[in-house]
Amino acid sequence: MDRTRLTALLARERDNYTRQNPRSAAAYARAEHLFGRVPMTWMNKQAAGFPLYLASARGSHVTDIDGHDYVDLCLGDTGAMAGHSPAPVVEAVTRRLAVLGGVTAMMPTEDAEWVAAELTRRFGVPRWSFSLTATDANRWAIRLARAVTSRPKILFNSYCYHGSVDESLIVVGDDGEGVSRPGNVGAPCDVTLTSRVAEFNDVDGLERQLAHGDVAAVLMEPALTNIGIVLPEPGYLAAVRTLTRQYGALLINDETHTFSAGPGGCTGAWGLTPDIVTIGKAIGGGVPIGAYGLSAELADDILSRDELDLIDMGGVGGTLAGNALSVAAARATLEQVLTDAAFTEMTALATAFTTAVTEVIEAYDLPWTISQLGARAEYRFTSPAPRDGSSSARAADAELEDYLHLYLANRGVLLTPFHNMALMSPATTAEDVDRHSEVFAAAVAELMA
Ligand code: PMP
Repeated sequence: MDRTRLTALLARERDNYTRQNPRSAAAYARAEHLFGRVPMTWMNKQAAGFPLYLASARGSHVTDIDGHDYVDLCLGDTGAMAGHSPAPVVEAVTRRLAVLGGVTAMMPTEDAEWVAAELTRRFGVPRWSFSLTATDANRWAIRLARAVTSRPKILFNSYCYHGSVDESLIVVGDDGEGVSRPGNVGAPCDVTLTSRVAEFNDVDGLERQLAHGDVAAVLMEPALTNIGIVLPEPGYLAAVRTLTRQYGALLINDETHTFSAGPGGCTGAWGLTPDIVTIGKAIGGGVPIGAYGLSAELADDILSRDELDLIDMGGVGGTLAGNALSVAAARATLEQVLTDAAFTEMTALATAFTTAVTEVIEAYDLPWTISQLGARAEYRFTSPAPRDGSSSARAADAELEDYLHLYLANRGVLLTPFHNMALMSPATTAEDVDRHSEVFAAAVAELMA
């Protein structure tokens, strides 16, 4: 690849983006009362200096305030995996909000038990509790794990992401031991006091860390999805389960993104047997919700310990968690939108996406790869596909990513910022995938010309 050509093409795409989006540019320039000019600082992750402002969204498409229509393969980085505003969710939320009334009342609704039973069917673990975000589901799962094991540390995979969980901001350093993740904002203490780390797919490294005997739980994605998609090698996940049992650590599967693997995420698709499952984002059909599920044995153990304050201010809980609106939305999403049948269609579309990208990679003999996890696929600029988080992190190419993101956005296709990732919803169509295939092929053809 000619880097000079890439730089020139990126500059051209940035100019086009700025010219095409005057209203978004002006809205951003006016936003002086927002910290970093955005409602949340990560919205400054943009390939061209300012974000597109949302006007409306329906199904697999979004519209910005300059009037452009996009095929949305980002889907709110999984929060809108059910598609934007699916009719059953609109109906359930409207009924709760406008017909029955009562979004949040410190009283349970019967939808919560329905959702918990459905999550049990899908993920196997049978006792569920709700939060508003996946981050909080992870935080509370970690507290419960420390409480029952009386051990201080949580073990993560290098370059994982589980939300803004203090303990998780750890990577493998040059000497193979844990160090604070670069950029860690205001860490409460040295992360190695609370955490251990091993590379994904590294069974020996995992055993070395577990052998210290101070790990309460391993918190992991069954496939990494936040540093490209890194798939587990044969036998790795079985070894993780054997070793966690052997060394007395609990296993927490974070299925927030890997939910794409099927109706029960990787846990369901691959017959995994974690002690705890955490999830968030997609299950609310766009309405904030998170959840964690416990094995019956673990739930009974925790509930039997009188010294743990699970009711009041013991550190596990949130006022709005389990509110009537969130669980109504989750029920509609799981019952009518992200159904078993929907996953079959979504996965077929992701396979078509992967096939088309592979054809381009092969046509130009590029040292790139694409990995698919059910309804999700992501390309990465290295070959063979990385087998752990640190090597995947080293394969990042910011300029190339910005070029592809902008080339696609300027022609009506949105990928997930932070990723080269595409997610399929039940509303995504073969035409949507074709649109990406055509524009991606054109972007590479110009680059390689
Ligand atoms: N777990 C995983 C695997 C995630 O990818 C994310 C967010 N990308 C989270 C947890 C945190 O989700 P939220 O920001 O909605 O709390």
